[in-house]
Amino acid sequence: MEEFKEVADSYTLPEAIREAQRCLHCKVPACKKGCPVSNDIPDWIAELAKGNFGNAMSIINSRSNLPAICGRVCGHERQCEGNCVLGKKGAHINIGKLERFVADFDWDAGLTHEAIPEPSRGAVAVIGSGPAGLTIAGDLARHGFRVEIFEMEAEPGGVLRFGIPEYRLPKEVVVREIKKIERLGVKFHLRTTIGLNFTVDDLFKQGFDAVFIGTGTGKPKQLEIPGINHPGVRQAIWFLRRVSLIQSGQMTSDAAMISRGDRVGVIGCGNTAMDAARTALRMGASEVFVIYHRTIENMSALRTEYDDAVAEGVKFLWNSSVIKINGAACGDKLESVVMRADEQESVVPLDRLLLAVGSAPASRIVSTTEGIDVDTNGYVVTRDNPYGMSSRPGVFAGGDVTNRPATVVHAMRDAKLVAEGIERYVDAVRLMAQIGQ
Ligand code: SF4
Repeated sequence: MEEFKEVADSYTLPEAIREAQRCLHCKVPACKKGCPVSNDIPDWIAELAKGNFGNAMSIINSRSNLPAICGRVCGHERQCEGNCVLGKKGAHINIGKLERFVADFDWDAGLTHEAIPEPSRGAVAVIGSGPAGLTIAGDLARHGFRVEIFEMEAEPGGVLRFGIPEYRLPKEVVVREIKKIERLGVKFHLRTTIGLNFTVDDLFKQGFDAVFIGTGTGKPKQLEIPGINHPGVRQAIWFLRRVSLIQSGQMTSDAAMISRGDRVGVIGCGNTAMDAARTALRMGASEVFVIYHRTIENMSALRTEYDDAVAEGVKFLWNSSVIKINGAACGDKLESVVMRADEQESVVPLDRLLLAVGSAPASRIVSTTEGIDVDTNGYVVTRDNPYGMSSRPGVFAGGDVTNRPATVVHAMRDAKLVAEGIERYVDAVRLMAQIGQ
C-alpha cells in the first residue's frame, strides 16, 4: 500500500558523512548520557565521518542488537539528540538518522561478519520475541550461550512487527534485524505458546538453565463507559495488528474494520494512539479525532509523533472524555459518542472508536508455573540481584511484563541488564554443580 510507505527519508552516503563530520567528538559526550543503552555515539560517528562503515557498525553492535529499528523508532528527541551540545545552537546531530544509515548500509553491503563463541556456557529459553526477547537473545548468544526463542505468533518480532505501523518501521527492516539475531545462532520456535503447548517447567526439563519471560503486555485495558462493548469499539492494538496482517497478505482489507469515509475517534494520547490515528487515516478514514482527558503537556506521545499526526490531519480534543457510546440502528458501526469537555456535554457523530489507554500482562505463563510472584496488576515482580530474576529461581523477566520500560529502547536497556543477571546466575549454578560433584 502506497499510503504506508516509510515516512522518514534516509541519508545518501555523502549526506551521512557530511552530517557525521559536524560532530564535535565531545570529551564528555552528553549524547551518550542521554542514550538508554549507552551507545558509544561519538566513537561510531567518528568512524563514519572517516568512511569506516564496518568499524562504525561494530561499535554500534557492541551496545545495540537492533540499530536499524532504534534508528527509526527511538525517542531521539528526548534522548541522545535532546542532549547533544549542538542542539543549544539549534542544530543537534541527527544521531537516529545516522544510526539508521549505518545499519542499512552495513546490511546492503554485507560488511559485518561477527565471530560468535561456541555456545558452551549454558542454555537459555526466551519466551517472546519483541525488543526485550531479541536483545536478551543477541547478548547471550554473543557471550557463549545457546539461546532458543519461543514465540506464539507465526512471525517473530512482537510489538515491532504487529504494533508499530509500516510507515514508521517497515516490516522488511524487522525481518532483517531478526535474521541478524538468527545468524548469531539463536533458534526460533514459532506458533509455540508457553502455558498452552508446554510450560516453563517443561523448558527446565528440556535442559534449559534459565528461562526469560519477555511477553510484554498483551491484555489491553478497558474503560467503563456505557456502550463500550459495541462492536464499533475496538482496542487500538487489535486494529494495528489487523492492519499489519492485511499488509502481509494474511487478511483482506475489510478485516481492519475502518473503511473509506469513516469518522474515527481514538481515546488516549500515547504513541499507540498516534499510531492508531495515523493508520486510520491511511485506511481511508475521513476524519480522526484523538480524545484525551488531559492537556497537551500531559500526553505521553513523543512530540514528533504528535507533530506528524497534526500535519497529516489528525484533530485533537483536549480535556475531553467520552461518557456514552451510541450504536447505529443497524450494522456494526457507531452513530455517535457523547463527550464532556469543560463541564459541557456535546454529541459527536463517529463511526468507530479505538481505545489506546494502556495494557497489562496476560497471565498464561504465571498461572501455569508455580512460584512466580506478580503484583496486584499482574506484572512479574523481579529483584535486583541477580537483576531481573523472579521469585522462582532461574526464571527471569524483563520488558513491559515487569512494568519497568515504556519504549522499545527502554525495553532493550532493561533486557541488557537482565542478560547480565542471567549470565551471573547460570555461571554460579554451574560452578556450584561442579564443586558439588
Ligand atoms: Fe557529537 Fe553532539 Fe555527541 Fe557532542 S553531544 S559527541 S556533538 S553527537
